[in-house]
Amino acid sequence: MNFLYILSEDDNDDIFYKGCIENLTGKSFNLIPRRIRKGGGISQVRRHIPYLLSDIKYTGKVENTFFVIALDNDRSPAHPDHKRLTEIDKLPKREQRKDCRFCEIQKITYKYLGSKDKWPLKGAIAVPVQMIESWLLLISKSEEYENESELPIFARKDSSLAKDYFAPKKPPSQLKDLCETEKKRLNITSSRNFFIHCAKRIASSDIHKSSNSFSLFKEQVKVWFNK
Ligand SMILES: [Zn+2]
Repeated sequence: MNFLYILSEDDNDDIFYKGCIENLTGKSFNLIPRRIRKGGGISQVRRHIPYLLSDIKYTGKVENTFFVIALDNDRSPAHPDHKRLTEIDKLPKREQRKDCRFCEIQKITYKYLGSKDKWPLKGAIAVPVQMIESWLLLISKSEEYENESELPIFARKDSSLAKDYFAPKKPPSQLKDLCETEKKRLNITSSRNFFIHCAKRIASSDIHKSSNSFSLFKEQVKVWFNK
């Protein structure tokens, strides 16, 4: 059996990442969840990473334990090209000031564990553009979206962020709204089951082509079992 630390915002996120990794590697994992406060962004990760990484550091070198640090991109400049959104001036100032979350997480990881070849455990950083729900939609509705850049950028159409951005028009459905519709269409009753459904379909989906942020994650996981 393998073990998997996941630092994420949500139980359902854990279920998705675990299922996704099992699908990509063909191995089973026991989950060791570590939680960050929802919507706390990079500051929450910055606060919790040291605890996770010091645990990992003192576990010593082990072959069967892995880690994932996951945070939604939430309209930050996306790794690795760091392009900002085209209509970024329609976002509040605090949104415009966001830095690349992947780079930030990587920097903190290097600070605690040293360069990648010195890490006692293999790990991966996941920063879905713009949220994990974007990945779910690209997997579940691959016939509709060719690229993650075609997807909405907000969580909900009734959020003040979306309302201000689209004013004076009414915002169209956003990522979580679209996931709700998709869940209903598939007759899936809980979010948890929708996350499991999508994780199962990873291997047969084209998400590695439609999502740069996913393919970045996949590349890191792919080498876990290489000697
Ligand atoms: Zn970056």
